[in-house]
Amino acid sequence: MQDSVRQLRSTTGYYFMQGGGQMGDLIRAKDWSKTPLGDPATWPQSLCTMVSVLLENPFAMYIAWGEEFTQIYNDGYRPILGNTKHPAALGISTTETFAEIWEIIGPMFNGVMNGQAIGFPDLMLPLSRNGYTEECYFDFAYSPIRKENGEVGGVLVTVIETTNKKKAEDALQESKGQLQFAVESTELATWDYNPVTNKFTSNDRLKEWFGLKDDYEIELQHAINSIAADDQDRVARKIEQSLKFTSGGKYDIEFTIVHPVTFKERIVRTKGNAWYDDNKIAYRLNGTIQDITEQALARRKLEQSEEQIRSMVETAPFPIGVYIGEEMKVQFANESLLGIWGKGNDVFGKSFKQILPEFENQEIFKHIDAVYLTGVPYHTKNQQVDIVRDGKTSRFYFNYSFTPLTDAAGKIYGVMSFAADVTDLNIAKLAIQKSEENLRGTILQAPVAMCILRGENFIVELANDRMFELWGKSAVEVMHKPIFEGLPEAKDQGFEEILHGVYTTGKTFSADGVPITLPRNGDIEIVYVNFVYEPYRNADGIISGILAVAVDVTAQLTASKNIEEREQKFRLLADSMPQHIWTADVDGNLNYYNQSVYDYSGLTQQQLDEKGWIQIVHPDDREENVKVWLQAVQTGHAFHFEHRFQRSDGAYRWQLSRAVPQRDDAGNIQMWVGTSTDIQEMKEMNQQKDDFISIASHEMKTPLATAKGYLQLLLLALNEENPTSFLYVTKANQAVDRLHNLVKELLDASKIQNGQLHYNISTFDFNEITEETIENMKLTTKNHRLQITGSCLHLVTGDKERLQQVLINLINNAIKYSPDAHEVIIHIEEQAGKIQVSVQDFGIGIPKHHLDKIFERYYRVEEQAAHFQGLGIGLFISGNIIHRHKGRLWAESEPGEGSTFYFTLPF
Ligand code: ADP
Repeated sequence: MQDSVRQLRSTTGYYFMQGGGQMGDLIRAKDWSKTPLGDPATWPQSLCTMVSVLLENPFAMYIAWGEEFTQIYNDGYRPILGNTKHPAALGISTTETFAEIWEIIGPMFNGVMNGQAIGFPDLMLPLSRNGYTEECYFDFAYSPIRKENGEVGGVLVTVIETTNKKKAEDALQESKGQLQFAVESTELATWDYNPVTNKFTSNDRLKEWFGLKDDYEIELQHAINSIAADDQDRVARKIEQSLKFTSGGKYDIEFTIVHPVTFKERIVRTKGNAWYDDNKIAYRLNGTIQDITEQALARRKLEQSEEQIRSMVETAPFPIGVYIGEEMKVQFANESLLGIWGKGNDVFGKSFKQILPEFENQEIFKHIDAVYLTGVPYHTKNQQVDIVRDGKTSRFYFNYSFTPLTDAAGKIYGVMSFAADVTDLNIAKLAIQKSEENLRGTILQAPVAMCILRGENFIVELANDRMFELWGKSAVEVMHKPIFEGLPEAKDQGFEEILHGVYTTGKTFSADGVPITLPRNGDIEIVYVNFVYEPYRNADGIISGILAVAVDVTAQLTASKNIEEREQKFRLLADSMPQHIWTADVDGNLNYYNQSVYDYSGLTQQQLDEKGWIQIVHPDDREENVKVWLQAVQTGHAFHFEHRFQRSDGAYRWQLSRAVPQRDDAGNIQMWVGTSTDIQEMKEMNQQKDDFISIASHEMKTPLATAKGYLQLLLLALNEENPTSFLYVTKANQAVDRLHNLVKELLDASKIQNGQLHYNISTFDFNEITEETIENMKLTTKNHRLQITGSCLHLVTGDKERLQQVLINLINNAIKYSPDAHEVIIHIEEQAGKIQVSVQDFGIGIPKHHLDKIFERYYRVEEQAAHFQGLGIGLFISGNIIHRHKGRLWAESEPGEGSTFYFTLPF
């Protein structure tokens, strides 16, 4: 036995020392080995059992064990010991603790030790337990505690203190004597009614209340007259009823008396008994009347307030219901609840579960049943509740509770439900949640860098990949950290203040092109950003963070900076040049002139901008200038034009203007860059040259004609007898012819230059003049076969000889520039409204870049010039003749394979 006790102690403490509140703690903490009881492990079984009972018992219990009467007591006993004896009493002797009454109780204790139980109701003990001696009363029971061997080991004292009860009883006793006085002093009136005489007697108080005269007997009706009009019938009926034997004779009614003189109202309750004779006829009805005005008014007030509460509950905006019994029958459901259920008003008395079967799988029945069974109220918040109304499920959210209803006996008889409809709130919350989700989605997919920084430490709550790129950080490095902790590189650049400002004022902040140093490729670089900080508000509208949007504009800024720099360089360069330099936009509007233009024209930038470039162009050149310029802008071909510009002193000087389009990588024109070079001196020199050629050739014409005439005469004079002389003269004649032709060409060229070439216009058959020309040429052509193909049906109007001159020119060139070939093909064909003539050879051909230029005066293809004789004016003259006929002359060629010259003439 003791072994097992020891074992128990080693694990959980002594089994008989469990619980017991403060005394339990003290008993367990006590070192019992220092007391006469010794180590608890050695305690006899009966003591152990009693200690365990004592600790578990709420009533005052006390053990005095052994010869020393060593004390053990529980929490219930503590008040009896008061503050002075407790806690010292534990573990010491009763003789010590109760020294002052040991005289009285000592003999009793000894009696108990001899097996004599003893009890004392209302035992008075003068105890000094609160620092002063007081009379205390106890119901005491002293019983023996026996050990296993039957011997009494100690005294068990169970005590119920009756000090207070005793005092009350004493007081009552004392007051008994005062009862009569008390009855008088209570507001009772007495009456006695005789139904036979219909008269009654009463005490003075009643008479006073009813305003009756002081007669001995009074007519009942007199009294009834003083009852409030509304109550008179009722009282009369009640009296009548009580007089009947079958009523049992009990008379008990409440009514109002109105004093006939003072009109003082008094609510009274009258109680009485009817007395019957052997014939069951009432001969007396007597009793008392009590003034219950105050109580009645109070009760009515209570009723009124109950009524108010009831109607408040009825009309309460929140749903309230009461369900009775296990079946949960609806006893009460207010308007609001009925409205939410939407099951009509015919629900009272029906089972809650029948009315709302849809609650079955929403666990609501489970909860309400549990409340009914356990009495533990159930509360829930924001609970989703689906209710089927008109066949449709409506979703609600409620804060609701089920509370048990208990009757006076404490038995649960029903459950009451309170609810608050928080559907709107929940829907709003859900909407906010949804919009938050949307926002999150938007941020993650946004084409610009975005993030949400939460709280006053700006913790990175959400950021998209672009933001990570901009920060130059990975998600792991910055997410869920204060931004300046994750991105210390951005610290102390003024962003903390800006963020803080937006967070506290709620004002959005935005800025463009702000430089910020950020990590880039393991280095720190300046990055330029456009950014917006917007306050981020939670559902309650309170700022809970910042929504940041940023765009890295470094590339754009540096690009536009580069462009600016380049433009700057271009202007510097352009302004330092003596040539006029200008630019134009895609549409051909001039938008820049270098310094030279201003210097030359003497105009200000404003003047040039307002009236345009054309104002300095010579009036005679303007029309053509505009035409050619617009053509260039439209076609995108280079602009090339000679015109005169007015200088600041009013003089005009010739300029050669060129402009080329600047294209982007896709080939789209971005702008035009133009130059105008002063060619006045060159022009003048050319003029002098032309003048000289003109004069020289003119002067040569006459001596040449004379020489030719004499050579003709000489040929006639010579005969075949002198063949050698004849041959020489023939050669000389041919050379003079060639010279004559050259002079003629030179003259033609200068005439063209001066606009003096005249035309004799007629209409003729082009086939004919072609054949004629070719027949003539065949006479002197030895190595080449001249072949005509095609023909023209229409007649042509123009200068026959000049057109023949063009043909001769082209065919001569074809022969001259195809020394190794043997054929020239002249082809004539008609096209819509015009004739097209081509002269094709199979000679040396012309490199592409010379194709346009060979029609200029004196222009010859350099590489060939040395090998072939010529002046470079044949094509110039031909081109002019064709232009004057409103036709076009051009060449196509493949070097080494030959050339084809085309011209067209309109009919
Ligand atoms: P010229 O023949 O007197 O030099 P042109 O005005 O007739 O002057 O021709 C100009 C230039 O065009 C020539 O110098 C020559 O280089 C080139 N050319 C003209 N016709 C031909 C052709 N059929 N084949 C090759 N080159 C030609």
